[in-house]
Amino acid sequence: MRCFNFAPGPAALPFEVLEVIRDELFDFRGEGASIMEISHRSPAFAKVIGEAETGIRTLLGVPDGYDVLFMQGGGHQQFSAVPLNLLGTRRKADYIVNGTWSRKALKEAQKFCEVNVAALDDGTRAPRQQELRLDPDAAYVYYCDNETVHGVEFDYVPETGGVPLVADMSSNIMTRPVDVSRFGAIWFGAQKNFGIAGLAIALVRQDLIGKAGPACPVMLDWKTYAQSGSLFNTPPVFAIYVSSLVCRWLLQQGGVKEMQRRSALKSGLLYQTIDESEGFYRTRVQKDSRSRMNVTFALRDESLNEPFLAGALERGLKGVKGHRSVGGMRASLYNAVPQEGVQALADYMKEFARRHG
Ligand code: PMP
Repeated sequence: MRCFNFAPGPAALPFEVLEVIRDELFDFRGEGASIMEISHRSPAFAKVIGEAETGIRTLLGVPDGYDVLFMQGGGHQQFSAVPLNLLGTRRKADYIVNGTWSRKALKEAQKFCEVNVAALDDGTRAPRQQELRLDPDAAYVYYCDNETVHGVEFDYVPETGGVPLVADMSSNIMTRPVDVSRFGAIWFGAQKNFGIAGLAIALVRQDLIGKAGPACPVMLDWKTYAQSGSLFNTPPVFAIYVSSLVCRWLLQQGGVKEMQRRSALKSGLLYQTIDESEGFYRTRVQKDSRSRMNVTFALRDESLNEPFLAGALERGLKGVKGHRSVGGMRASLYNAVPQEGVQALADYMKEFARRHG
């Protein structure tokens, strides 16, 4: 029996994707072997990575003039890759810091350059455009579009006056339309809304590729991937395969607009449950910055945390415990989490509040 999975990442995969993986496991499309056992330079794998790239381009409307790069090393590798690739001859970068992941990105960038904190918040909101103190000499402006740990999401794209904008969209990619042309680079780990761990994807404007210095490790240089079609060395073949299937699933479901509609319904239901609980549940996140992907909340009476989680588990509602650094609860509502699971969680929250309120 499968649970309703609210895990923050690795996270729920669409059931239909798992079925295809199962069906293709032993004999991948007539190859007589699994996808994990054939060459990454075979025509069969070329089709897989091609489908993933075309899928990303179609789903996000990636304009010509942007490369789609398939990398390993997860999000943390991109924390280093961003300054190494984008500083060029400049020595400064702007970071908007409003949660765990933008803070980690900032820490890594500080190894390579002077960092200007363009705005600062401790995980309760997305700083507004008028608050941003941007440096016109910065090589780039960096932010995290959805802070997974705190449950804070931007509801706008920062305006940077011509300085390349870089976004970490690891936890909300493929959940709403994105105007890629507003960005110098967008990157995301696959393990939340786009597949499994072991793969990170960067969409990079071509004029920003090739600026890394000679000391940049080859596997951190975006140019390595751009020039080789992401086949410089052995790529994470299984992860790319899973993402190609997620692309197919997303297209069948109606694309990112449909995901946007569903995510508004799902997150709306939980926020409504929190708001109508008369303080039994509360969230620290300001209304205009509430994440559609990671709904964070705390129980007024913390001594009820354990019974709350135990009751959730009994109902097959898993992964609701908050990140260890902030405590409380967090329900991650990625694309593969069905509305009925969210309804079951909302019903349980109401019932629990009635019993303990
Ligand atoms: N950015 C965001 C928004 C994340 O949610 C995470 C992981 N949860 C990371 C970066 C780090 O990713 P990784 O664990 O793949 O290094």
